[in-house]
Amino acid sequence: MDAGPLNVDALRRDFPILHQTVDNRPLVYLDNAASSQKPRQVIDAITRYYLHDHANVHRGVHELARRATEAYEGSRERIARWINAPDAREVVWTRGTSEALNLVAHSIGQARVESGDEIVISEMEHHSNLVPWQLLAARTGARLRYLRLTDDGRLDLDALAGLLGSRTRVVSLPHVSNALGTVNPVREIGALVREESDAVFVVDGAQGAPHLRVDVQSLGCDFYAFSGHKMCGPTGMGALWGRRALFDEMPPWQGGGEMIERVTPQRSSWAEVPHKFEAGTPNVAGAVGMGAAADYLDAVGFEALHRHEQALTRTAIEGLSAISGIRILGPTDPRDRAGVVPFVVRRTDAQDLATMLDAQGIAVRAGHHCAQLVVDRYGVSATVRASFYLYNTNEEVRRLVDGVRRAVRILR
Ligand code: PLP
Repeated sequence: MDAGPLNVDALRRDFPILHQTVDNRPLVYLDNAASSQKPRQVIDAITRYYLHDHANVHRGVHELARRATEAYEGSRERIARWINAPDAREVVWTRGTSEALNLVAHSIGQARVESGDEIVISEMEHHSNLVPWQLLAARTGARLRYLRLTDDGRLDLDALAGLLGSRTRVVSLPHVSNALGTVNPVREIGALVREESDAVFVVDGAQGAPHLRVDVQSLGCDFYAFSGHKMCGPTGMGALWGRRALFDEMPPWQGGGEMIERVTPQRSSWAEVPHKFEAGTPNVAGAVGMGAAADYLDAVGFEALHRHEQALTRTAIEGLSAISGIRILGPTDPRDRAGVVPFVVRRTDAQDLATMLDAQGIAVRAGHHCAQLVVDRYGVSATVRASFYLYNTNEEVRRLVDGVRRAVRILR
């Protein structure tokens, strides 16, 4: 059945934070690519956990330890179903996408990468999917190779086959670009990677999971990393899905409680995955919040969410394009974007523009968005980025367009 349009007025009632004024103007929150807001349902689930169920997990035999363990492991199962993972043990909790990608780079690096091997990433990367691979390359003597960007903000897929070969150990690319909004054809990329190499295919899903239905089996990747706070969930929490056989092969990357099987004075053996990668007392409330966020997004419905974001993106692109001197980065067709609209205005500083929007109650972000290579590629030092989510309205996008017009007039 085709989902109807989102009832945005009803959804907005779930987000208490949106109902406030900034400088006497109703808040317009368009910084969702940096972090989304949290609905009452997620906040309540976390509060309920702390009010009634909290204890340390796994070790205890008492009632609260049992409940906390059920909450923690139940959320893992929930997230596994949410991304269609074949086995909940393939979901490792992390602090977020950055930690998940560092885990893969560190551990797969130790298991598989040697001097002279190659790691393929792209100019589109968030620094979280770039610096961990740089560190690995520096540690091992492996070589980083870059997939270039086209003028309209896409990965240059024609060049991908030429980067793959017998020395390629890892290919790691974003599902959706945080700096351009581009939705990448992950499934096709995965097929090509498998055809042309034996590389492990890692997907940075920080901007994918919040906006698109993720099915890790049909995407054909080996790892998928994402963060709770960008998908209506809590900060400091994320997940890494990976194929069981790879996780089994990989050494642990942090040591401590929970991750061991047996400890002797000189050496230890490791617990089974996922616990092998979860040293120390985990963020149980964070896991509970992630599960609640998945429930919330499922109730909203990804199909309707995606259509809503595309409509907002279209309104934004049409409205902003009419402002003289403006340049919008990324794909021109809103259907190729996930609710992210970055732009620059001639003779106007991006930071000044964002500051003037803030004075009108409009929250956007200015800068390189932790994607230095993207702004370098397009010859700018910074962009203003508006990014939308399920609770944003057409009216808010119109306020953005009016706000930019007014700010540009004053700044020029
Ligand atoms: N990758 C992308 C594409 C992102 O947009 C972000 C955050 O903005 C990250 C990785 C890092 O996510 P986190 O800061 O939650 O670890």
